[in-house]
Amino acid sequence: MAKHKTPMLDELESGPWPSFVSDIRQQAEKGKQILKDAPEDLLGILELSYEDKVTHWKHGGIVGVFGYGGGIIGRYCDQPQQFPGVAHFHTIRVNQPSSKYYSTNFLRDLCDMWEKHGSGLTNMHGSTGDIIFLGTTTDHLEPLFYDLTHELNQDLGGSGSNLRTPACCLGMSRCEFACYDTQEACHQMTNEYQDELHRPAFPYKFKFKFDGCPNGCVASIARSDMSVIGIWRDEIRINQEAVKAYVGGELAPNAGAHASRDWGAFDIQKEVINLCPTGCMSWDGSKLEINDKECTKCMHCLNTMPRALRIGEDRGAAILFGAKAPILEGAQMSTLTVPFMKIEEPFDELKELIEKVWDWWMEEGKNRERLGELIQRQSWQKFLEITELEADPRMVDEPRSNPYIFWKEEEVEGGWTRDINVFRQKHQR
Ligand code: SF4
Ligand code: SF4
Repeated sequence: MAKHKTPMLDELESGPWPSFVSDIRQQAEKGKQILKDAPEDLLGILELSYEDKVTHWKHGGIVGVFGYGGGIIGRYCDQPQQFPGVAHFHTIRVNQPSSKYYSTNFLRDLCDMWEKHGSGLTNMHGSTGDIIFLGTTTDHLEPLFYDLTHELNQDLGGSGSNLRTPACCLGMSRCEFACYDTQEACHQMTNEYQDELHRPAFPYKFKFKFDGCPNGCVASIARSDMSVIGIWRDEIRINQEAVKAYVGGELAPNAGAHASRDWGAFDIQKEVINLCPTGCMSWDGSKLEINDKECTKCMHCLNTMPRALRIGEDRGAAILFGAKAPILEGAQMSTLTVPFMKIEEPFDELKELIEKVWDWWMEEGKNRERLGELIQRQSWQKFLEITELEADPRMVDEPRSNPYIFWKEEEVEGGWTRDINVFRQKHQR
């Protein structure tokens, strides 16, 4: 019988969708976790929060494991007498493998280990990407950490003012759109920056995310201070025969993903050409042409006709900086900073850029100021100075009308028009 009455939570078990309440109950009934009462008391305190319309979790508290400054988030409740099973309920972030590939054996071992040291409840995965172990007491932290690192060879992730656990898309392991090896880049950066990941020394959190192409399966442009987005700089490869097969209905658009589409036969003009955001495609009834200089790599045409169109062969990534969720200021997307960089081992160019940015942010950033906010406060021009990059029209939304980049007097000899012309000539391909 349930330990606490939870009428409001019971409502959340109704309906056809999965319910986290049912999952917690399942763990409570299974009862294999060392903290026997944790799942039941978790439901109890949540119901109380719904009744009182206020959280009963007290904020933070410093807990951790020896030698690490992050990875564990201290959590205590303010009703320990009523809910002793969750008096301490610390959260543990475990660094997920690149692209979140697991064997079933590994998942079983992970769950067994968590039942041995905590509530048995997990969150797969937290929004940064980590495996989250939900709820244990301070005395279980060191033994858990020992087992995790020695038996499963798995490390903690990041929390606090440090590098957060890097994340990447499936990349070359499964995806033909991958313009660089996202998993390798993610793995190498995780190893290279262990100190930054485990020993908080930044003004605030910092996230890298690695998307293999602009489809952005890890949404790096919206969710990371530094977004590495795969891109090509030559031409989209066109197989004209396959284009005709799409037009003739022999190949299903979007790889058949819209099997239930009910808007009739595939219409290349309506569904591809007219939807190209830069209007750089044309179709004369037998040949598809793309003016690649104007293509902004939105991926729409490639997603629609993957058998006919392929990414170019000169591949790398665009690097963007400054995205964040609304914490102090509003949410913002990251801004294009390096239009193209080759992303290849040993990733020296990437590391050099990262370190320049960190040096500046650690020197100038205020406490709890994200990189994007510092860029806003000190200007994009300053950011270009510290990264030793030249201003580029591709960094500007509307280069012909938006004076977002200002030049210093000494940089302007023949006036603004001359500078724009120089940029145009320089970036003409
Ligand atoms: Fe594929 Fe691009 Fe998604 Fe990565 S981001 S999995 S390369 S579609
Ligand atoms: Fe147009 Fe986007 Fe295709 Fe480029 S990727 S040609 S911008 S639809």
